[in-house]
Amino acid sequence: MKNPMDRQLEKQLSDRAVAIGREGNVAAFDELLVLLKSSSANARRLAASALGKLAWMGVDQAAAVAALGPVARSDPHAQTRQYAIRALKAYGAAAKDCLPDFRDMAVNPYEKYYIRRDAAAAVAFIEEALRVAAAAAQYRCQRCNSVLTAEEFARSQQAFQRPYCDRCFDEVFLSRRNFETQVELNKTIEARDGTVVQSAGERTIADWLTARGIAYRYDAKYRIIGEFQIRPDFYLPELDVYIEYWGLNTPQYKMSMYKKQVLYQQEGKRLISVYPADLPRLDTLLRTKLQLFGYHC
Ligand SMILES: [Zn+2]
Repeated sequence: MKNPMDRQLEKQLSDRAVAIGREGNVAAFDELLVLLKSSSANARRLAASALGKLAWMGVDQAAAVAALGPVARSDPHAQTRQYAIRALKAYGAAAKDCLPDFRDMAVNPYEKYYIRRDAAAAVAFIEEALRVAAAAAQYRCQRCNSVLTAEEFARSQQAFQRPYCDRCFDEVFLSRRNFETQVELNKTIEARDGTVVQSAGERTIADWLTARGIAYRYDAKYRIIGEFQIRPDFYLPELDVYIEYWGLNTPQYKMSMYKKQVLYQQEGKRLISVYPADLPRLDTLLRTKLQLFGYHC
């Protein structure tokens, strides 16, 4: 039996792990590595989850992977293992040494179903990240000939199927995007108020805003967030709220999505993420989220 002091300490450690992840507190990275070795299974589980959230925020990826690996393999608590697997997945190519273990877990009938499922998902994601990294190694920026990082390659491929470094990407993105993605993909859909959007999901969001008289700018211009230029799907100037519709589900898209979401979070921007599965309950979702930001509709 645990005495009350143990419970209180356990709660403190767990709350601390959650807070570090939620705040994207990169400075507390080492603290998470310590929490990952806590005697509390719940604190270990939440520390693993938080490490996953920091994966794209410039932390020591090798150190995180080295710490999470043994937890994913052999923590006595199955759910802690599951969270470690999910966290390692977020590290993408950096977690490549975990692939053999994850492949085994995915087909091991003695594993819990959620371990098999999440191990299989991690294998797919890490393999795709490795493919992207390998492809990037062969590419130079089409404009300035600099060697591309995997992330630069993924980002520019995602946007317009051309290899560009981040600097060239930002310089050409604005003019390219209209011609090469919107027009070529022929995905132009008109919302009720005449705004031309790129998907049925975006149209649903635009129509929802129009119906409630909420002013929005769709894909209008770059906004500088941190040191990056970002083009939000929707920006609500009266509420200072961003809405992004994450409409695709490919690993490459998801990687750039995580990166963008972290950026919003780091800069303290008010972001509402909408996924395709949210569309049937869009009204509830947007009303609830906007209420959190003090807007009632
Ligand atoms: Zn370049």
